[in-house]
Amino acid sequence: MRFTKLRLNGFKSFVDPTDLVIHEGLTGVVGPNGCGKSNLLEALRWVMGENRPTAMRGGGMEDVIFAGAATRPARHFAEVALVIDNQERLAPSGFNDADQIEIVRRITRDAGSAYKANTKDVRARDVQMLFADASTGSHSPALVRQGQISELINAKPKSRRRVLEEAAGISGLYARRHEAELKLQGAEQNLTRVDDVLEQLA
Ligand code: ATP
Repeated sequence: MRFTKLRLNGFKSFVDPTDLVIHEGLTGVVGPNGCGKSNLLEALRWVMGENRPTAMRGGGMEDVIFAGAATRPARHFAEVALVIDNQERLAPSGFNDADQIEIVRRITRDAGSAYKANTKDVRARDVQMLFADASTGSHSPALVRQGQISELINAKPKSRRRVLEEAAGISGLYARRHEAELKLQGAEQNLTRVDDVLEQLA
């Protein structure tokens, strides 16, 4: 799966609709301090399902919405779209029936986030899994933010292992195992309840 386009609208400093075409190979973003380089990388993480406001350098997720400037009022929503080339059909099932996949995440003040894949409503979890399985998720080691290299050098082995797991594309499996464990717990609780009812009836 290859990212081909990132579109931002009302996301942080990108108040006007902005298209970024991503060509094959390495992409570098250069510009003066404060021009929005980190905001671009955050938009990429955000559309892939990042749900920690701190990872967006904010106190709450709505902080990603353009907050207004001297000459422009604040916006009520922010939207980021990521277009993926899927001609090789590498996307997981559920997403794999089109040559191109467009994932859109939109956040509206007081209404939270909603996701779409090729115009159909999807859950945050589905989008997170799509990218986790493709080992390009919002925590992907392919996205290197400022200060991350020194953090990695000083990290404990357990944290470094997490980076390797993300790169290997197995973090989605951990998430699925966690979900399965929760379902199992629910089933066990139901069984206990059935036993109690049976005991009362006996
Ligand atoms: P540096 O090279 O210094 O790290 P940068 O190019 O990475 O800078 P960013 O940190 O991406 O720049 O952008 C910072 C700019 O984004 C600041 O001017 C800040 O005011 C603006 N900004 C961040 N969040 C919002 C928001 N919600 N609404 C409007 N502007 C925002």
